[in-house]
Amino acid sequence: MSAYRPIRPLPEQLINQIAAGEVVERPASVVKELVENSLDAGADRIDVDLETGGKRLIRIRDNGQGIPREQLALALSRHATSKIGSLDELERVGSLGFRGEALPSIASVSRLRLTSRVRADEHAWQVETDGDEVPPEPAPAAHPEGTTVEVRDLFFNTPGRRKFLKADRTELGHIQELIRRLALARFDVSIHVRHNDKPGLQVAAARDQDAAEERLARLLGRGFVEQSLRVDVEAAGLALRGWVALPTFSRTTADLQYLVVNGRVVRDRMASHAIRRAYQDVLYKDRYPAYVLYMDVDPGQVDVNVHPAKHEVRFRDGRLIYDFLFRHLRQALESVRPEAPGGAAA
Ligand code: ADP
Ligand code: MG
Repeated sequence: MSAYRPIRPLPEQLINQIAAGEVVERPASVVKELVENSLDAGADRIDVDLETGGKRLIRIRDNGQGIPREQLALALSRHATSKIGSLDELERVGSLGFRGEALPSIASVSRLRLTSRVRADEHAWQVETDGDEVPPEPAPAAHPEGTTVEVRDLFFNTPGRRKFLKADRTELGHIQELIRRLALARFDVSIHVRHNDKPGLQVAAARDQDAAEERLARLLGRGFVEQSLRVDVEAAGLALRGWVALPTFSRTTADLQYLVVNGRVVRDRMASHAIRRAYQDVLYKDRYPAYVLYMDVDPGQVDVNVHPAKHEVRFRDGRLIYDFLFRHLRQALESVRPEAPGGAAA
C-alpha cells in the first residue's frame, strides 16, 4: 500500500496542460482555436503560416478588432473571456469561443507570442511566454490593426504528447481539412495559407453567388459544384441553405459531408441520419451522399457546450430538426428521382 499523500491544489501550469489535453490534440487543433478567435474578432482576412506541418510554427494573423495592451495578459489567463459573462449569455452564445481556455492551454504547451493592436492605439503590443512563464509586461511592437498569434515548438515541454505527433505531411493534412471546414463555414472571410514558405490554399471572400460557387469548387472540386442541387428553404423558424450532390456524385465514404449550424461546422448523428434518409430512394445502399449545408437555428435552441472542442451540438428539439432536414431535402431530391436506382425497387 502506498503512503498517504496529502491533497494539494494543482499548479496553474499543470492545470493548463491538463486542459490542453482536451483541446490541443495536434497542430490542427491549435489552428482551429486560433482561427476561431480571429473569426470571433470580426476579421475578414486571415493568414495562416506553417512550418513542418505546424510542429515548428503556426502563425495566424488577422485583421480583427485586436486586444488592448492591458488585456493581453488576461487573454492568456485561464477562464478569462470577452465573449460571455453569464449563464444566460452562455445559453444563447453566438461566438465560436466562450470557454476562455484555448490561449492559456496552447501557451502551456508551446512557445507563444501574441501581438495585437486595436484601432485606437498608435502601435501594437506584444507578450511572449515560454510554456511556464507568467506573461511578462507587454512590449511595443509593429503590427497593423488586428492580431497575430505565433505558436512555436508545440508540445516541446510535454514529451508524452509530442511523441504522438505524426509526419509533417499527416499533420498538414489535418490542418488543411480543418481550414477547408472553416473556409466553408465562412464565405465572407479570405484565407491564405502558406506551408514552409510555399503558398497553400488561398481563397478570397465570396460576395455573390458566382463567387461562392467558385470558392466551393476550389475547396471541394468542380465536380461537386456541377453535380449538385442548391437548397434554400425557410420554415418553422429554421433556415436551410447550401448544396446537396446529385446521386450521380455519390461517394464511397462519408468524406464530403459538411453541416454548418449557426456558423459552426458540426458532426451530428441525428442530422446526418436525417439527410441520409432523405437520399434513401435515390442512392444505392453502399453509397454516401455529399453535401454542404448551412442551418440557422435560434441560438437558444442549440447547446454548443457539449464538448471542449465543440465538434458536437445538442438540439433542444431534435425531432423538429430531424423532420425539417428530412422533409426539405427529400423534396429537393424528388426532382431528380426518375432515374432512381435502389430505392424505388426496394
Ligand atoms: P475564448 O475564445 O473562449 O474567449 P481564448 O482563450 O481562445 O478564449 O481567448 C481569450 C480571449 O482573448 C478572447 O475572449 C478574446 O477576447 C481574446 N482574443 C483571443 N484571440 C483574439 C484575436 N485573434 N483577436 C482579438 N481578440 C482575441
Ligand atoms: Mg477561443
